[in-house]
Amino acid sequence: MKMLYSLAGNVKEMGQKEMSRTAREGIVTCGYGNRFVVHTDTADYTCGLRGRVSFVSDHTTPVAVGDDVLFTVTGENEGIIDSVQPRRSVLSRPAIGREKSEHVLAANIDCLIIVASIKSPALRTGLIDRFLIVAGIGGLRPAIVINKVDLGLDEEACEAIKVYQSLGYPLFLTSVTDGTGLEQLLEFLKNHRSILSGHSGVGKSSLLNEFLPGTNLRTSAVSRVTGKGRHATSHIQLFRLPGGGFIVDTPGIKVLGLWQLERDTLADHYPEIQRYLGQCRFTGCSHIGEPGCAVKEAVTAGSISSMRYQHYKQIYDSL
Ligand code: GDP
Ligand code: ZN
Repeated sequence: MKMLYSLAGNVKEMGQKEMSRTAREGIVTCGYGNRFVVHTDTADYTCGLRGRVSFVSDHTTPVAVGDDVLFTVTGENEGIIDSVQPRRSVLSRPAIGREKSEHVLAANIDCLIIVASIKSPALRTGLIDRFLIVAGIGGLRPAIVINKVDLGLDEEACEAIKVYQSLGYPLFLTSVTDGTGLEQLLEFLKNHRSILSGHSGVGKSSLLNEFLPGTNLRTSAVSRVTGKGRHATSHIQLFRLPGGGFIVDTPGIKVLGLWQLERDTLADHYPEIQRYLGQCRFTGCSHIGEPGCAVKEAVTAGSISSMRYQHYKQIYDSL
């Protein structure tokens, strides 16, 4: 099995036979300092790290929530992480004080669930568009959840729904209050390791509590590794959904930034702009002010949503 890197200076000396007998596969669901909860189908193990941690490229996070690991059981529900499997994807932000390196928030998450609401707070399509870009940068499949549909869909919301559906993004209309759409969303989540993002107050915690009844979301796993029962408001945790799949809760992390985005790659994240690739008068057209821009013409003609194009311009200006 190919390892991204080994945490274990002394694992090699153990010999392959002993390794295959003792090493188990698991998923890191929670971390605090150098202590981690590793989940397997049969039990959860609180684990430390074996030996000295070797860093890989510029990752400052040798083990992250979502990592697939090999570990050795050392006691009842205890173990030591031996190695980390190659990461298929990472959600990251710049490491504080180290411009070029990233802090991995979660690994191997394959789906970004963008949660918005109809009213209180009002539907913010600008934020949806930003999160769609974040998903693109992170290599995550995006899905949009519009919650609180019990409050009634206004014209603007109906229009936005049409736009996102026509772009091919999976979209779920839900209400935690009356149960609308929850089954369909759960069915989608079943096959993924997902992260919920969105403006505060849209109903992310309510959705999680609905899907994970009886789980004290903010305390359970963290208190295990810290030995404290306090609320860990900024700790990321991965939860196994009853029907399958995992979901990550990122309390306190409001917006995953667009820090890796450059102006000249912004259009790559707009499927509707991609359709007009090579049709603008100027190569390298930014689709902002150039004459003969096929994208602007498509906006005028109504074949590209002007709402989406306005956000494109705002994000472009902000870069
Ligand atoms: P979060 O900040 O995204 O985690 O949002 P919360 O889950 O804390 O929800 C914020 C508020 O919206 C709470 O008062 C919830 O009871 C309420 N809420 C959540 N889902 C719904 C819904 O589907 N319909 C209505 N009307 N209210 C909801
Ligand atoms: Zn153009």
